[in-house]
Amino acid sequence: MSNKNFCCEKFEFRYNGEKTMGLNFRVVKYGEKFLEREAELYNKKIENIFNKAYFVTDGYSGPITDFSIKKMVINYCPFCGQKLSDFYKSDDYSQEVIG
Ligand SMILES: [Zn+2]
Repeated sequence: MSNKNFCCEKFEFRYNGEKTMGLNFRVVKYGEKFLEREAELYNKKIENIFNKAYFVTDGYSGPITDFSIKKMVINYCPFCGQKLSDFYKSDDYSQEVIG
């Protein structure tokens, strides 16, 4: 059904889990408006800003930007050590977009 590849089975399991069920992993893409604001804020070119973030969450139902959600940004897979921004580059992995 899905042709996505995963760094390891444990990551795949948590990625495919419902977002309402903790703990889960979420791949979130930053939308264009978000990137423009960041670029302005840090005086950088948009292309030089990471356009995705990787989260562990406790489960949630609204948008991931909700401050009440327990979440943590991760850069490496906690199981196999894979650098997530290298492995999950494609937008196909995005589960949510931050505006
Ligand atoms: Zn992994």
